Amino acid sequence: MEQEKTISRWFLFYKDQLLLKKTDIGLEIPTGEQAPLPIDHSLRVPFPDGSEALAASLESEELPDDRYTFVGLRASWNYISHNAYKKAGKAFQLVHWDRHSQYCPACGHALWQNSLISKYCSHCKEEYYPQISTAIIVLIRKGDEILLVHARNFKGTFHGLVAGFLEVGETLEECVRREVREETGLEIQNIRYFDSQPWPYPSGLMVGFTADYASGNIKLQDDELSAGAFYGINNLPELPQKLSIARRLIDSWIAEHNS
Ligand SMILES: [Zn+2]
Repeated sequence: MEQEKTISRWFLFYKDQLLLKKTDIGLEIPTGEQAPLPIDHSLRVPFPDGSEALAASLESEELPDDRYTFVGLRASWNYISHNAYKKAGKAFQLVHWDRHSQYCPACGHALWQNSLISKYCSHCKEEYYPQISTAIIVLIRKGDEILLVHARNFKGTFHGLVAGFLEVGETLEECVRREVREETGLEIQNIRYFDSQPWPYPSGLMVGFTADYASGNIKLQDDELSAGAFYGINNLPELPQKLSIARRLIDSWIAEHNS
């Protein structure tokens, strides 16, 4: 069969650093028939819009030349299009999965990739897919105010929303209720789905909700949260970056409030 030369887009990562190419107007995902530097093996990454790209992890942070630079995946949101950032997130999740699923977790035999998103153990005859860690995040309204918290694991001084990982056997709504109770001591009502967002740090899905305060006084879970209070629209603290669903939940409340 005749092989046509194809131009690929390359999502290359050293740890959580994404390789980007400098252009006159900014930074872009590198393209070309060949990867811009030697790689072990690459993964084909299909996207919902029907396009595909190649992804790989790099062994060192050596740059091909000075036309390239590394940018943290999260920070890349500031430099590339929203669409490219979303694709980079999927590529990163698959690269991370590939690195962490070399062997069968049940028997230790080497796994082989039998589809773009699955691997197979020929010994156990088991198929394995990338694991997605589901987390909830919730905006809680009380009258004209919303609950904003500062979690100890936030990278920065901003205030965000209560969030936490789904546990085995829980519904999302049960998880929302439990996380709010554990972290703040509050009871909530009217839990409503808002939207969701893949969160590739390294393999999450954030599911956003809104809710109304029902009862209780704020009692922070000290090892998780360092601050938490209800804020009105005129005294909001520093907010999360625009790329997060937390910020979209807050912005949506602000828009509603102002309308
Ligand atoms: Zn096995």
